[in-house]
Amino acid sequence: MNKRFLVWVLPILICFATIQCNSNEESQNEKHPVLLVSIDGLMNDYLERNDTPNFDQFLSEGVSAEYLIPIFPTKTFPNHWSIVTGLYAENHGIIANSFFDYELDARFSYGPPDDYEKGEDWWGGEPIWATAEKQNRTTVTFFWPGSESSINGVRPTIWKDYDGSVPDSARIDSIAAWFDPAGDIKADFGTLYFSFIDSRGHAFGPNSAEVDEAVLEMDNLLGYLIDKLDEIGLSDSISILLTSDHGMAELSHDKIIFLDDIININHVDVIDWSPVAMLKPNSGRADDVYNALKLSEQNYTVYWRDELPERFRFRNHYRIPEIIMIADVSYTITNRAFYEQRGIVAGAHGFDNYAPEMRTFFAAKGPEFKQGEIAPPFESVHIYELLNYLIGTEPAQNDGDPELLKNILLR
Ligand code: AMP
Ligand code: ZN
Ligand code: ZN
Repeated sequence: MNKRFLVWVLPILICFATIQCNSNEESQNEKHPVLLVSIDGLMNDYLERNDTPNFDQFLSEGVSAEYLIPIFPTKTFPNHWSIVTGLYAENHGIIANSFFDYELDARFSYGPPDDYEKGEDWWGGEPIWATAEKQNRTTVTFFWPGSESSINGVRPTIWKDYDGSVPDSARIDSIAAWFDPAGDIKADFGTLYFSFIDSRGHAFGPNSAEVDEAVLEMDNLLGYLIDKLDEIGLSDSISILLTSDHGMAELSHDKIIFLDDIININHVDVIDWSPVAMLKPNSGRADDVYNALKLSEQNYTVYWRDELPERFRFRNHYRIPEIIMIADVSYTITNRAFYEQRGIVAGAHGFDNYAPEMRTFFAAKGPEFKQGEIAPPFESVHIYELLNYLIGTEPAQNDGDPELLKNILLR
């Protein structure tokens, strides 16, 4: 090699390469912290019909979607897991809030923390906190369905066993402390979760005064959150995503489908009941069960799993049983004994994810988002790609389209 090259050109090349490296590192470090907030059961029009000054300000400073389309079925656990993994239920395996897995010979159900539910075997896909932790980011969760389980041995740096009695303001106080640039944790990514709008929707129905009161409470909490982020100096530099898992539909005592009036209930295992009845017929009974349901098909639609409309993305998981019965919005599938004992609640979700009542909410603000714009509706599976972009991480395989949400970003 020519001596002149070694003396002059090589150092320049090395220097240039180092600058490139440094600037890559810097651009990684320049990434702003990201907070993902779930407001369970926030139907898209709840905000339109209420006076919510803090949400209004948030929307004027950021972007929002006309509405967010949840995944099918429109239940809490399947949807929260889709938001953080970017996968449809058929690809992540959380097919309902409660279901039986014949390979694991166990029931998945939420409730008080229990070791089985925490087991890794249940949760397919890679949640954003695992993606981020694996790429040397610090993540914290003050509740998110699935955050209590390790995933391929990875957990958030801080996570909490679900306890619905923890005051909502205390969740915000903790998150602010964990994001605080002057604190010990200095989180890059965090989640918050609030359940009370969903609970009121179930208890009193989506059109109740009680839901409206809950929306105002949430508006106050949002104001409190923004103040807290202001106190730690992050209000202008943090990206905040406000979203939800599904809407809510009014139920009615006139709209009950009694499964035991239509089929012999002893001929099936009911994996989940309502509004999506997932039926595993006993050996040799599948045709009888399907035909009986087809014959009485009113206020619901019955499908062989393999014939479910493609848009549900709900065929390709071994946990999904052979026969799927989907109640029309506002109808309840139950059996006589259960109904006589327990009746129904005022509101429910779980229906067709394209039903207007199941539409939910998305808004985001921060240094990388456009301001005051409203984007066309999109499906919640795309949020995982967006989170990776914001955090600066390489996403795991998922069903989202990395291009789809570029239009809500400044560049
Ligand atoms: P749903 O039955 O679909 O309305 O689910 C909402 C309920 O899920 C909330 O009211 C909480 O009680 C419960 N929940 C939410 N997050 C968790 C969690 N991480 N672990 C256990 N239960 C949860
Ligand atoms: Zn929910
Ligand atoms: Zn709910």
